[in-house]
Amino acid sequence: MAKKIERCSFCGREKAQTNVLIAGLDAHICDYCVSQAQTIISEEITTKTNKQFTKIELQKPQEIKKFLDQYVIGQDEAKIVMAVAVYNHFKRITQKSPNHDDDVEIEKSNIIMVGETGTGKTLLARTIAKMLKVPFCIADATVLTEAGYVGEDVESILSRLLQVADYNVAAAEKGIIFIDEIDKIARKSDNPSITRDVSGEGVQQALLKLLEGSVVNVPPQGGRKHPEQRMIQIDTKNILFIAGGAFDGINKVIASRLRTNVIGYSFADGKDSVDKENLLQYISPPDLKKFGLIPEIVGRMPVVTFMHPLKKETLRKILTEPKNALIKQYTKLFEMDGIKLKVEDAVLDFIVDKSIEFRLGARGLRSIIEGILTDAMFELPSSKSAKELRIDINYAEEKFRKTNISKLRVA
Ligand code: ADP
Repeated sequence: MAKKIERCSFCGREKAQTNVLIAGLDAHICDYCVSQAQTIISEEITTKTNKQFTKIELQKPQEIKKFLDQYVIGQDEAKIVMAVAVYNHFKRITQKSPNHDDDVEIEKSNIIMVGETGTGKTLLARTIAKMLKVPFCIADATVLTEAGYVGEDVESILSRLLQVADYNVAAAEKGIIFIDEIDKIARKSDNPSITRDVSGEGVQQALLKLLEGSVVNVPPQGGRKHPEQRMIQIDTKNILFIAGGAFDGINKVIASRLRTNVIGYSFADGKDSVDKENLLQYISPPDLKKFGLIPEIVGRMPVVTFMHPLKKETLRKILTEPKNALIKQYTKLFEMDGIKLKVEDAVLDFIVDKSIEFRLGARGLRSIIEGILTDAMFELPSSKSAKELRIDINYAEEKFRKTNISKLRVA
């Protein structure tokens, strides 16, 4: 009997005409068809992401705040300001082109958030983007420099947004960019400097171009622009910029402004005394200018809000309440090994106290829990009998003593 010729079940090529012919149960596929199938799959996926990003769901400010409440504890003032700004922003970009009788053009509402590090600025911006289902990226202002200097060009921010949007330009043009540590590009004094300030004012000027809304040539893969590289044009008119920073030392600026303003006046809300513990709540655009942001940047980021420093009660809630609270995450990790994790209340208080003692803020909570649970996470998955892990205060204290955090010295 003649030997049956093996061939690709998709295109019919004989084995000899292919580089590789892969055998399945009752069929074969050749390398050409595999690579064609791969192209079809990536096209399908791109179409799906395009659909995912092009449909913007416009939610009312109160709904936005409710959504934020599920992930971010407290910070009500910032949530309300953000909810309104984002709502107005999306009203603006979904507005039909203005007709001629009505020349009202709604302006952009870029936002600046002032607050100590670890108080939830990034979390807030990220959560908003999650809700709106628009491309979102975080850019670190400290690595940006003026074009031609060592560091990243400002356009690299747009490359990142484009990558997140799977190179869907229309989606990227409606995205949100979170610029972290904007305070680090403040110029060193309120007076325009005579000498060049490569990482400060120059970067602010470059950033201004993006904030104002202009068509920018973006290298799709990021990095420096090369003359021979193909560029993609992105219009930043509808991109929402949210900037965050700790603005260390701005308290003094606010205090001195309040001191000059307060005499003879009382606050509109009836309180006539200043809450000296939390001066950030009185932040206003002139303070940012005084701190070293150029007036044009301050003008282009008209919505200014603040974050409260995290108090003990807030940290305690952060451990257990948000939708993806830390304790919920670790419970899930153990659950995957069939183990029920129980953390006693006293331990939760202990974790919060240590985070405050070592000035680690909300970010420290995670490192402390990790320190307490690492041994158990190492040992229990191999144990046949472990069904429950109860963390009491003795266990927590003993494990914490072994961590590097416990050896930190508090200044
Ligand atoms: P920032 O941007 O202000 O430096 P982040 O948003 O990165 O701070 O916060 C760091 C981490 O701390 C977050 O990932 C989150 O787990 C936690 N966190 C901080 N503030 C809050 C909050 N108000 N509610 C819930 N989690 C918070």
